[in-house]
Amino acid sequence: MPRRSRTSTALGISATAVVALALAAPPALAGPAAAPDPVPSLVAGQDTAAPQLVTGLAEPAVGSPADAARAHLAAHADRYHVDPGELAEVGSESTPDGRRTVRFEQRHDGVPVFGAQYLVHLTGEGAGQRVESVGGKYFTGLTVPTTATVPAAALRDLALGSVQDPKARAAATAEDHGLVVLPDGAGRLAQRFTVHAADPATGGPAAREVFVDATVGVVALAYDTRAPLPSPAPTAGSSAAGLEPATGTAPDARGNSVKVNIARLPDGSYQLTDLTRPAAITTYDAGGRDEMDFGGGIPADLPPAHSPGPDFPASAGTSGATDASVNAGIVYDFYHDRFGRNGLDGKGGAITSVVNVTQDGAPYANAYWDGKKMVYGNPGPSYYPFSAALDIAGHEMTHGVISNTADLVGMGQAGAMNEGLADYFGNAIEVTARGMSMNDPAAALLGESKCRTGTPEACADRRMDDHRTTVNDYLGGTVDNGGQHLNATIFSGALWDIRRTLDPLTADRLVYRALTAYLTPLDDFVAGRNAALAAGRDLGLSHAQLRTVAAAFDAHGIKAGWENRIGMDSRTLARNLSYSMAPPAAGGGHWVAMAPAPDPVKGTGGGNSSSTTALYTGSTTGRGAPVRLSPDDGRYHSWPATDGTTAVWKAIGTTAQNHSRELLAAPLSGAGPVRSLFLADGTEPGSPQVSGGDIAFTVNDFTTHRTSIRLSHDGAPAVELPLADGHHPDDLTLKDGYLAWTESWQDGQQYVTAPTVYSIAAGKVTAQYTAHAAPGAAATSASSARLAGGRLLWLDTPAGATARASVRSGALDGSGVTEVLAADSPNAPTRGGSLTASDQALTYKVESTKPAGGWTNAALPKLWQLPVGGGTPQRLSCDRGGQDQPAADQGTRVVWLDSTPGRTDLVVRDRAAGTC
Ligand SMILES: [Zn+2]
Repeated sequence: MPRRSRTSTALGISATAVVALALAAPPALAGPAAAPDPVPSLVAGQDTAAPQLVTGLAEPAVGSPADAARAHLAAHADRYHVDPGELAEVGSESTPDGRRTVRFEQRHDGVPVFGAQYLVHLTGEGAGQRVESVGGKYFTGLTVPTTATVPAAALRDLALGSVQDPKARAAATAEDHGLVVLPDGAGRLAQRFTVHAADPATGGPAAREVFVDATVGVVALAYDTRAPLPSPAPTAGSSAAGLEPATGTAPDARGNSVKVNIARLPDGSYQLTDLTRPAAITTYDAGGRDEMDFGGGIPADLPPAHSPGPDFPASAGTSGATDASVNAGIVYDFYHDRFGRNGLDGKGGAITSVVNVTQDGAPYANAYWDGKKMVYGNPGPSYYPFSAALDIAGHEMTHGVISNTADLVGMGQAGAMNEGLADYFGNAIEVTARGMSMNDPAAALLGESKCRTGTPEACADRRMDDHRTTVNDYLGGTVDNGGQHLNATIFSGALWDIRRTLDPLTADRLVYRALTAYLTPLDDFVAGRNAALAAGRDLGLSHAQLRTVAAAFDAHGIKAGWENRIGMDSRTLARNLSYSMAPPAAGGGHWVAMAPAPDPVKGTGGGNSSSTTALYTGSTTGRGAPVRLSPDDGRYHSWPATDGTTAVWKAIGTTAQNHSRELLAAPLSGAGPVRSLFLADGTEPGSPQVSGGDIAFTVNDFTTHRTSIRLSHDGAPAVELPLADGHHPDDLTLKDGYLAWTESWQDGQQYVTAPTVYSIAAGKVTAQYTAHAAPGAAATSASSARLAGGRLLWLDTPAGATARASVRSGALDGSGVTEVLAADSPNAPTRGGSLTASDQALTYKVESTKPAGGWTNAALPKLWQLPVGGGTPQRLSCDRGGQDQPAADQGTRVVWLDSTPGRTDLVVRDRAAGTC
């Protein structure tokens, strides 16, 4: 349920969301009127030779399910391309009708591959045992070495460094889960951490999964979770030893006295533990303690909700404890009676709820599954305790079922399916228990009964009948972990339609089988559709029923290739760059951008390379195929700049033997060697710039902590430019014989920033505009200096809480400043936002704050453009998703990273779109 969530990813959300390509299914063999089989017989994998799904098999398989599965994969290596030696069994499911699913996790040289699971489905007994279908994610292109070269302490520091707030960072802990391989092209070796921090920047207490590249030393992937702390404290009263089953009464949240299953303690008192099922259900009343107190388990001094006699006091009702206990029993019974499942873990493990928590001293209007238990707020006075809403309890407990089965990763489309499945079962449980009709308008509402006042519609968190589709509504961006809640109803809406059009019991069994027997952690919507269809065929659905299932997904735009049907007004130059934080470069009609090696442009992931990232270049008109610019030398190539003729960039060695930082240059035409610009021990070069024969960059000396500027004029060796002691240069910009930067220094109590211009011909600084301030106004800070149109442009951000910056322009000879765009004008740049400019137009980003009703596409970052001399800003593009990292080419043409299709693409427009 939690909606507050943010993600910071270097690797784009979409990097792990692999799009399946559905191949044409063979026609059915029935009469002439037969429609094609809606269940695909073969779905190819993407970025791998292993198929995503193979169905319709009936091949003999001998031995235990795991042995039979391995033997089947080995015997058909030409079909699956799976090495059984790289598989570790992580669980299996069996159904009352004798079907068995063996779930394997992929290991690369013994290291787990993040989210990669391959599943084999068997039926029949003994000599009659058959493999029916096979599928999942197994990445055949992984070649990355599995030895970390960055020291362990540095990896931990980098993980902790992902906490934005300094105070929270100081108190944060990083739980080390060891090495994993991120399945990106040839693979990326990363150390996985769960970082626990009360980070105000991420919206309250939270945990975050952080993957630090173990050979480059950068955060490769991060997303928010609700993981509990490691080594939970002993849970008070969780043992059923010495407890006797009993019955009693307790008030519920609405004041009714209800019969409850409780446990009698040896001293004759009672606690809220229901022992009537194989899984003991225990409920704790936090009594207003902070939810953080429960991060490591139940505090040792807190017993379960307790009563001296079998009739529980009023607090059991007002806290939400009675409802949590009763609703947990209803949810258990639903999963047990409908599917034969024994509890959340399927093994009768204890079911634990904590009610009545607060957050940061305030009432907590939310609920969540933390990986081990349910945690509910009790925000009164306008709400009932959240545990009193059966659909919310069903939703959170279903997260527990999911984490023990498909374990869908909580980001992007996999995260949206995780939330959508929790919504589906939460509501299915409520509708079933309450005897509601599927046609009841409230049936599709989630969380509608938690409010004491107002209509169910106004109270609901989401509704599965909102008719949202991928093509019309998919929220493309990194907020909400890539839309895990915001895109949920696209998927759950299709499932709910199936429940309305098939009978509910069949639909529930189909969705449950898709979840437990087909889905894997990184699956996307299309894989979810195919999982449902395959599950439907296993359950013996007719062709007509399967077509109904397919039609429900069609109606929500969940079919292969949907990303390409989203209307965009930009041209795509390169797909799925993944690295949404790495700015591309543009100039002279060419672009340069970083992407995972070996080749994202073709989307094939050839898998023959061991390098981690590569630079590609192409024409900003989109003509011709992009070509690889950086050498295939196993290094991490990034941070490019270009003037349209030459590219300069940084290469980072990724082995213990070569951990250097080197600046490189190469002609875009490929007609010339890659040459070294700078390489020196104990230094970090950065911010490379190129214009004509001139190249400039910064060098940070690790010993002196000084950053200097180096300039190479007309191919001569780079020389250091003098800079006053204590002065720091940032953000170089180089054009037509001028070099500029933002210089900063401490002046008494004041921190000064000053856009600074250096004339290469004159060999001296010709302009320095110290933080511009109107008379009597507070100082401002400057950033994003750019040379364009014979002027220097920069962003000036007033001190204080303002979110917007002004655009200023200064003459190169220091003769004065003009304001191009005021900070208080409509659609002014966001503070610190990136500015890019050609001689004709300047382009910048506007970020919104989160809207009260949650993120929408309209609120994601958008780019605006205006003439360099000033004018009214216009929307650069009407693409509806996130727009970021603009790089101006010539005239009004700009390239940027666009997340509208649910992945990070490099796109271009020749001129502003105007109004959208
Ligand atoms: Zn949820």
